[in-house]
Amino acid sequence: MQLNFAGKHKVFIQNIQYSIESNSCFVNILRLDEIHPLISGNKFFKLQLHILAAINTQYSTIATFGGAYSNHIIATACYCHQLGFKSVGIIRGEEPAQKSNTLLQAEAFGMQLIYVSRELFKEKDKVIRSFKDENYYWVNEGGYSRLGAEGAADICSWIDGSYTDIVCAVGTGTMMAGLIIEAKPHQKVTGISVLKGNEKLIESVTDLLTDEEKKKHFELMDGYHFGGYAKHPEALLDWMNLFYHQSKVPTDLVYTAKLCYAVNDLLQKGYFAPNSKIMIIHSGGLQGNNSLPAGRLVF
Ligand SMILES: *Cc1c(COP(=O)(O)O)cnc(C)c1O
Repeated sequence: MQLNFAGKHKVFIQNIQYSIESNSCFVNILRLDEIHPLISGNKFFKLQLHILAAINTQYSTIATFGGAYSNHIIATACYCHQLGFKSVGIIRGEEPAQKSNTLLQAEAFGMQLIYVSRELFKEKDKVIRSFKDENYYWVNEGGYSRLGAEGAADICSWIDGSYTDIVCAVGTGTMMAGLIIEAKPHQKVTGISVLKGNEKLIESVTDLLTDEEKKKHFELMDGYHFGGYAKHPEALLDWMNLFYHQSKVPTDLVYTAKLCYAVNDLLQKGYFAPNSKIMIIHSGGLQGNNSLPAGRLVF
């Protein structure tokens, strides 16, 4: 069974010229979005060790959680389909009259979707217990766990010691924890939160780290959520178009647009030391833009 079907050959590193004068920093972006259109960017990395564990423990079904627009759900469905696993998605909220693209595609990959109320969705243990007779390998929402983070740590194999800074978007914090695990001692990992006012988020990151890893350099930035998770005011969409014109990098409205915008802003504010070499992680997620009217984005 070939786990690493994505290969590493399609991923590439691209230079970005932010139009900021007197800035001596050098910025590259790691195009993990190129791995696969649906098993997008970081989801592949966060899932890989879970899937390996499921194989090693003889499970044939992966079950996980997510919302109707979850990149994690679609990635799990597609990845399992490719590997011949069955998959079950526990979806937050009632079954919608009009299913999102994400749910339709997940179903097309054979994922069994089970809708649970928003209240019950919060009680994951209870949900898991209700399926105790099934032989499911459970993966947390967003792949959140030490195993998910260790899988994400592989992303650092593209980031050599010449980089001083690594910057990523943060949802559950799994990817950020993975980057911290593998970052070199002189490197700083900066996470851009896409959530509004989640004070516990930094704890979610540090809970996945050992005491030694907690001493490494990292910082979580608030204030780039544009109104909250998945909120996308016109100004953000306009900026995505502008950024694409300048850099030819497509971004998604939930994560990477806010990430790339934040790097621009942090450069202007002098957040990075002079002559820093910065790697932005393009973690994928582009299929999320399908919820926009056709033509709103130029890419
Ligand atoms: C899921 C996702 C993230 C967030 O990753 P976490 O490990 O949950 O913090 C970032 N970017 C994209 C494109 C994603 O789909």
